[in-house]
Amino acid sequence: MPKQAFIQAGLVGVALFSSGAMVAAGPRVTRDARGLGVARLSAVSGPERPVVMASPELASWLLHMREEEKIARDVYRTLGQLWGVNVFSNITSSEQNHMNSMASMLDRYGLPDPVVDDSTGVFTNPAFAELYTLLVERGSESLMEGYKVGAKIEELDIVDLREAIVGAQDPVLISVYENLLRGSRNHLRAFARQIYNNGGTYEAEHLTQEEFDEIANSDFEPGGN
Ligand code: MN
Ligand code: MN
Repeated sequence: MPKQAFIQAGLVGVALFSSGAMVAAGPRVTRDARGLGVARLSAVSGPERPVVMASPELASWLLHMREEEKIARDVYRTLGQLWGVNVFSNITSSEQNHMNSMASMLDRYGLPDPVVDDSTGVFTNPAFAELYTLLVERGSESLMEGYKVGAKIEELDIVDLREAIVGAQDPVLISVYENLLRGSRNHLRAFARQIYNNGGTYEAEHLTQEEFDEIANSDFEPGGN
């Protein structure tokens, strides 16, 4: 169910960053998504019927992933400005593309964009706003911690996209999710390479260590970002 998706993301953030500051979940978006589900059902025969109908759970995932791509973009943008290394700025551009892909899916399903303010660090889901702050704080401690924050974001993204895609039957949406997954694997490889090349080690927390190592040690996947 949609609520679980948001709670899960929040709990993951708490477990990862060991901070009591994480808010319980993202109820605002969840409530919006539920309300939307009802609104869309009543509008099904109207002139503004969306191209494709979204179940409440599907809608919730679309809203969630739109903001999850934003948190990636915003954290990398901020850390890129702080540390001035290319890996962050390159991946920031890719995350903008991912955000755009999710925006097009929101259009496709006739859903309103939760990104009402595109400014760095601004989110509709308060759990994402809190997580943004935690990630930037941690990634500001050192460049190595910045790389590790990048790897953690990509782990989270992969785990969430894997769950989101389970409920997707629309081939267009599945294709978008798969493209985002491929991008996330490539980003994970890029951050892992920086960690290892600079003498660091990394413990996986969302993926299993075996899954993380398998992705990190496999070849870059071409096909756009
Ligand atoms: Mn992404
Ligand atoms: Mn990414």
